[in-house]
Amino acid sequence: MSLTALLSVSDKTGIVEFAQALHAMGIRLLSTGGTAKLLADKGLPVTEVAEVTQFPEMLDGRVKTLHPKVHGGLLARRELPAHMAALKEHGIDTIDLLVVNLYPFEATVAKPGCTLADAIENIDIGGPAMVRSAAKNWADVGVLTDASQYPAVLAELQAGGKLSHKLRFELSVAAFNRIAQYDGAISDYLSSVNFEQEKLSEEYVPTRATFPGQANSQFIKVQDLRYGENSHQQAAWYRDLAPAAGSLATGVQLQGKELSYNNIADADAAWECVKSFEAPACVIVKHANPCGVAVAGNAHDAYAKAFQTDPTSAFGGIIAFNRTVDLAAAQAVAKQFTEVLMAPDFTPEALEVFKSKANVRLMKIALPADYNQVRNAIETKRVGSGMLLQTADNHELQLADLKVVTIMQPTQEELQDLLFAWKVAKYVKSNAIVFCKGGMTMGVGAGQMSRLDSARIASIKAEAAKLSLQNTVVASDAFFPFRDGLDVVVDAGATCVAQPGGSMRDQEVIDAANERGVAMVFTGVRHFRH
Ligand code: 5GP
Repeated sequence: MSLTALLSVSDKTGIVEFAQALHAMGIRLLSTGGTAKLLADKGLPVTEVAEVTQFPEMLDGRVKTLHPKVHGGLLARRELPAHMAALKEHGIDTIDLLVVNLYPFEATVAKPGCTLADAIENIDIGGPAMVRSAAKNWADVGVLTDASQYPAVLAELQAGGKLSHKLRFELSVAAFNRIAQYDGAISDYLSSVNFEQEKLSEEYVPTRATFPGQANSQFIKVQDLRYGENSHQQAAWYRDLAPAAGSLATGVQLQGKELSYNNIADADAAWECVKSFEAPACVIVKHANPCGVAVAGNAHDAYAKAFQTDPTSAFGGIIAFNRTVDLAAAQAVAKQFTEVLMAPDFTPEALEVFKSKANVRLMKIALPADYNQVRNAIETKRVGSGMLLQTADNHELQLADLKVVTIMQPTQEELQDLLFAWKVAKYVKSNAIVFCKGGMTMGVGAGQMSRLDSARIASIKAEAAKLSLQNTVVASDAFFPFRDGLDVVVDAGATCVAQPGGSMRDQEVIDAANERGVAMVFTGVRHFRH
């Protein structure tokens, strides 16, 4: 018995070629108004759904396919005689393949000046209904919701005349994902509208809350994890339905043991930090904090400098590069124990180096050209039966934003190091104190309840690593509430300080900097990180 396909698409990309291929295999074509017209114009024999249902498309297309002749044909279980008898009794034919992409709701509301009426009209009703019917009945029906699926479906049909269970199941999962994403977009949009009854008209363009806008974003599971932060906790890794290019979720693991919960959390911290540099950079993370960060002329040198900051903590750390790892970098990294190594690519020689270190997890994450612009848009945190959402801390400090507040002026070199230190401080848990010099971290103090303690820890670490903090620059993620914090970093050897400013006692701290003969800049922005 020949198969029937129903095609109803808003985005008509590739539909003609796909329909031609179906027709060439003897598959009967059903279609809705616009799609049917396009196919007929290309000379394809196509039956309009309206002809099948004996009911015209109506209400400006709001009702096209919402009919038992369509949904019965999609939902009937072929192996149940009662279902097939019911179809026969009511003169319904089975539909074996459904090709639907939905009204472009997301694109419509993304346009500036989109009216509420236009948004509402772009909520597809019959499309998702058909997709749900077909996806529910995946055992008998193949459902395509995106043009990217056409080739795989054609390949199986051409090879065996029907679709495998595996492909039909995968298509069904993709279909429900798409519906969830679509409904999430509608719900997000409507929730963001500041509704003004008095302005209601066909032309009404609602103002919208810019945030929260993504509370209903959908996630799909990447993998179950062996356990969570600790072995008695269960865990899984989810990603956005459409992850941004260059994000951790787009990575491919080339070798090594399965990533753990802590690996992924630390890898993300390292990856987001290394992406913020344009020059070849290396970031080593331990327990979610960078313990060494450097920029240099190449990956190897960046690693060597980053490692020098804190060789003790780097043991078992997670390492990220924003450049291809070549033989020299690989050989250097291979000397230390590392849990995860991430880079946009590895040369074949570099991969060879890690062959004998089967436990090292190698992650390849392709970076787009504008990789330092690619950021998570929204961050979430669960709090007692609720959730906090915020836009990610994507503020990028520019040279022009720095306001020198002391008599001493920073040198050009110090300004560059200040910008570097500031980028690193953003990724260090508060309170963060980061000493730097020559494009490398010289001492990192992280996660203390007191800024003074973070400063002290940074100098203890520098001493342990046999690094001198003399003539370094230092970044503090938040302002100094008193002069004591400044005194500690100057005592340690810093000659140039970056801090947000904005404290009630700014003047006291500026006076202290002048008294100590150091330069200080205000950034005007802070980077708490918890
Ligand atoms: P066409 O361009 O073929 O006239 O329309 C295709 C679009 O109509 C597809 O995006 C499909 O999801 C949508 N569609 C199909 N049936 C219905 C229906 O009964 N109601 C609504 N609102 N949309 C439908």
